[in-house]
Amino acid sequence: MTTSTALEEACSSQREQIKALELQLAVANEKLKRADLTTMETMAEYEDQKKMIQDLQSRIADAEIKIVDGEKLRKKLHNTILELKGNIRVFCRVRPAIPDSEIDDVEGPIVSYPTSTEALGRGIDLMHHAQKYSFTFDKVFTHEASQEAVFVEISQLVQSALDGYKVCIFAYGQTGSGKTYTMMGKPETPERKGLIPRSLEQIFQTSQSLQNQGWRYKMQASMLEIYNETIRDLLAPNRPASHEPSAALIKQYTIKHDSTGTTHVSDLTIVDVCSIREVSFLLQQAAQSRSVGRTQMNEQSSRSHFVFTLRISGVNESTEQQVQGVLNLIDLAGSERLAKSGSTGDRLKETQAINKVYQP
Ligand code: ADP
Repeated sequence: MTTSTALEEACSSQREQIKALELQLAVANEKLKRADLTTMETMAEYEDQKKMIQDLQSRIADAEIKIVDGEKLRKKLHNTILELKGNIRVFCRVRPAIPDSEIDDVEGPIVSYPTSTEALGRGIDLMHHAQKYSFTFDKVFTHEASQEAVFVEISQLVQSALDGYKVCIFAYGQTGSGKTYTMMGKPETPERKGLIPRSLEQIFQTSQSLQNQGWRYKMQASMLEIYNETIRDLLAPNRPASHEPSAALIKQYTIKHDSTGTTHVSDLTIVDVCSIREVSFLLQQAAQSRSVGRTQMNEQSSRSHFVFTLRISGVNESTEQQVQGVLNLIDLAGSERLAKSGSTGDRLKETQAINKVYQP
């Protein structure tokens, strides 16, 4: 009897246990079913996303091809526009009057800008002995024009240098007319930076953004000064302090034009540059080199031409295109007239040498 009661108790507790386990199993089964459903949904989602990624990848590939084609078209159109605008363009920039010494006299302003539709932004009127003289240029920058405004006009030419064109920008005018301010400006104040630092910034920025399209650019800079038909290398490590050329020096730097229309100066220091900081350093070095000449040589630097040359070679790894562009930025010597500069002797020779460069 006792054994039978014990067995019945064990049996009933086991029944209880079985019931509990059956319940647990039902719950687990329910969970599994739900998990299966979620997995299926996830799988479907994964397949959808995989398809979407493939679709996007093929669209990116198409877009990349379109960008390369678009870039080719842009290059062609950009340079066609520049050619249509004229391969040689002349801009006029008026420097603001220096307070006290150059304030307009009672007769009224000497410089004025015509407002007629055809001359707007291109014309300039000068008063001389009560007589008006009108001139027209491709563009006139008034005395209020900022360095930025001048740069906007030439920045497209800088782009052409990256596209493989040979670009040359000269500043011409008499001493004190603002050539150095326009070309170099005051690089330490951002808004007064001139064309040279701005062009270089644009070149480095654009060449970097073109990397996405497979372009790799190599830049080489050189800087020279031409005084009395003698070339001085402003980046030479041990440049002679004197302006007086020795016979050896005259022979050292010879200008050669090759069949591709590229101009080389033999023995000139050419420096590989990879960043705007490196070029800024070179510009400082050249400016120092020039100012040493200036104190020693009685302001001769205003009578020498300063030539900054940046050679740009680009290779496109994906399209195997190659470009060789050159950007020449030139601060010419003061264009004083022979009569005005009262030239005789050495000074006459000097003035003639300066003007020779203006008459190719
Ligand atoms: P240049 O190189 O033709 O001899 P500079 O560039 O040295 O002439 O200019 C003469 C002076 O006039 C400098 O003190 C320069 O800072 C100032 N200057 C020239 N152009 C401007 C301008 N657009 N705005 C303000 N100052 C200018």
